[in-house]
Amino acid sequence: MKTSQKPSMNPSNKRSGNMGPPAIKFHNVCKTYSKSNEYAVNHVNLSIEEGEFITILGSSGSGKTTLLKMVNRLYEPSQGNIKLFGEDIVSIDPVMLRRRIGYVIQQVGLFPHMTIAKNIATVPRLLKWDKEKIEERVSELLHLVGLYPRTYEHRYPSQLSGGQQQRIGLARALATNPAIMLLDEPFGALDAITRLHLQDELLKIHGGSNKTFLFVTHDINEAFKLGTRVIIMNQGKVCQFDTPKEIVNHPADEFVASLIQSSREQERFWEALE
Ligand code: ADP
Ligand code: MG
Repeated sequence: MKTSQKPSMNPSNKRSGNMGPPAIKFHNVCKTYSKSNEYAVNHVNLSIEEGEFITILGSSGSGKTTLLKMVNRLYEPSQGNIKLFGEDIVSIDPVMLRRRIGYVIQQVGLFPHMTIAKNIATVPRLLKWDKEKIEERVSELLHLVGLYPRTYEHRYPSQLSGGQQQRIGLARALATNPAIMLLDEPFGALDAITRLHLQDELLKIHGGSNKTFLFVTHDINEAFKLGTRVIIMNQGKVCQFDTPKEIVNHPADEFVASLIQSSREQERFWEALE
């Protein structure tokens, strides 16, 4: 694996001035599923600073989801450990841990029988926030994800478009203001235009916070647009972890080079049509 110690060139990368422990640190993390000798995740070492927007890029089956799900303990590593702000997550109760980490997935997973307001307030209600505080937060979150509260708060998920549902999924994950957000191909099922809008909104949301984002995608354009640094995975291994610029100019291995090459070929296809 090749990594560079240079700080990101991207000005939107807000690293905290005081260098505390990394927001997320993977130490020798491996995952094998039972009955399988193959590594889904193979000896991963990564250090992610607070405030970074990290994208994880890799083809289907490369271990992206497995890596992400170990951070909120939906899966346990077979080897190695993961620390959040210096604290080993094995010592944190999984339920408590998940309340501290936002999680957004492609299938959104809104509760169909609950209004949008109730969906967004799922965790605050579990935490028994008082009614006014919840109402205020729901309204603030709807504004944040670009939806007008009065229009949407009383609707049900089936009364929303796919893009709007994904905005609600995002709002729900942000409800208790978690320091870390895990996003697993959140825009994978959306049309190209909606996807571009949501990418821009997500960048805005990240830019206005000091949150650490870990965002999985198989789309190279999405990975390079959003990520201040990009993790490239292949067959459970991290091939390269660096800024988009560094990856494009200095691909670490054959796999990364071929990934960039195939994307360039697509560009030429478009140029040929002009
Ligand atoms: P990605 O998200 O990059 O598509 P995954 O992390 O889902 O990759 O999968 C990595 C590998 O682990 C694949 O070979 C997949 O078949 C295997 N895998 C994923 N989840 C499970 C599971 N629950 N049980 C057994 N094998 C799994
Ligand atoms: Mg996946």
